[in-house]
Amino acid sequence: GGYPAFANHPGVDFTIPAARAGMANALATVRKDFGATYPLLIGGKEVKTAETLDSYNPAKPSEIIGRVCQAGVKETQDALAVAKKAYLAWRDVEPLERAKVLFKAADIMRRDINELSALQVLEVGKQWDQAHADVAEAIDFLEYYGREMIRLGAPRRMGNAPGEVNQYFYQGKGVTAVIGPWNFPLAISAGMAAAAIVCGNAVVYKPSGLSSVVGYGIARIFKEAGLPDGVFNYLPGKGSVMGDVLVEHPDVSVIAFTGSMEVGLRIQEKAARVQPGQVQCKKVIAEMGGKNAIIIDDDADLDEAVTGVLYSAFGFQGQKCSACSRVIVLDPIYDRFVSRLAEAAKSIKIGPSEDPSNAMGPVVDTAAQANIIKYVDIACSEGKVLVKRTDFPADGGCYVPLTIVEGIDKSHRIAQEEVFGPVLAVMRAKTIDEALDIAGSTRFALTGAIYSRSPKHLEKARKEFRVGNLYLNKGSTGAMVERHAFGGFNMSGVGSKSGGPDYLLQFMDPRLVSENT
Ligand code: GLU
Repeated sequence: GGYPAFANHPGVDFTIPAARAGMANALATVRKDFGATYPLLIGGKEVKTAETLDSYNPAKPSEIIGRVCQAGVKETQDALAVAKKAYLAWRDVEPLERAKVLFKAADIMRRDINELSALQVLEVGKQWDQAHADVAEAIDFLEYYGREMIRLGAPRRMGNAPGEVNQYFYQGKGVTAVIGPWNFPLAISAGMAAAAIVCGNAVVYKPSGLSSVVGYGIARIFKEAGLPDGVFNYLPGKGSVMGDVLVEHPDVSVIAFTGSMEVGLRIQEKAARVQPGQVQCKKVIAEMGGKNAIIIDDDADLDEAVTGVLYSAFGFQGQKCSACSRVIVLDPIYDRFVSRLAEAAKSIKIGPSEDPSNAMGPVVDTAAQANIIKYVDIACSEGKVLVKRTDFPADGGCYVPLTIVEGIDKSHRIAQEEVFGPVLAVMRAKTIDEALDIAGSTRFALTGAIYSRSPKHLEKARKEFRVGNLYLNKGSTGAMVERHAFGGFNMSGVGSKSGGPDYLLQFMDPRLVSENT
């Protein structure tokens, strides 16, 4: 009531000089803070620790974005105690008042969109447009979840039996540990945190060590938006030191996680074990990996298909759980499609993301670089190399070869294991049925796409291409809040789609009050 219907934040066109200038200025502004120290924020208070972790620019690892204080066991326990107390007050604040904090935070993000985008360009190596899209998605989550809470916040009358009035309503579950990824460093963390907060929970937020300076921005924004101290606590720290403490603590009710399958499964296992003093079953919401396929039918529009596959496979260096890592091509069109794909992949401009003419940049850090190079070698030994781009800057940046191999079948590791980098496997199928069978032959079920002009094949894909997000005649990445509510199943995750109508329900317990009248 009273708020305009949800609409996605508009995209930006960096061919417009003013838009370009805005971003260039923001990059210069953000650089001024390089090397600053970022404290933890517990109950609204800055907490400095002796130990810090440097977050660096992956295009130039000698450039330190920030020195980030690191929570140990004590700070983690302190943050959880503060959150527990804050929850008891926050859960009874009216849903509309909670939603208003999200709307205010969205206003702040709209105001600061250039600086927030510029920071991602420098901290994780996102291209300008993709960094901007990440901030836009964060704004969308705030606006969407605020409206969703207003919708769910109205008590529902159940049944119409004479002599009684029954009300059905929700309350926040409690302390929520939000464990964020670095690849959508603002959107996914702000989304998980906003969902928890608007439902009446208190959050302890552990950002990825690779994007903790972006993560600090979330704390700053919620504070400016008027969120009471203690409802959102910023707790960067090493997973190996405080990750288990956070997950296993008896006062944690919800764990909202986005990241790898390995870590997601470990969290589920730890959360399942009841600790001394624990009074609730923990709810785990985990968005995990993908091994996503795009099918190229024999009548596909090749201009669109080549562009869609390249963007899905190599956008942000393939570091998206939605990225295309397998392209399954129908026999009759195989040679034409594959030669065009390879040609186009050879023309992608590679270099620092700070220069907007580069379409591919460095991967996020030296560890990711080493892991991806290992998979490039696996891909090249299992298949036949079509493209291996080693013409990237040799200046110490975290670059890896953009790689496309063919001759891959279901049994190859490169067809089954998530790489999280710019490595694409080309697979051949004789029929649409075989293509769909290959597409469905992994543990994952996150995204998928098909390029086809055949209504029959599109209909078949709709039914049999069983993934969380299926795209017909478009790429596999870039889900928009509400329109493309995002998330998968099988080993791709547990829990409902972010930016979708069921998401908030996971953060609340339903209650029913029946009154004899
Ligand atoms: N929502 C993103 C997309 O559709 C992917 C999120 C992720 O990588 O975790 O591209």
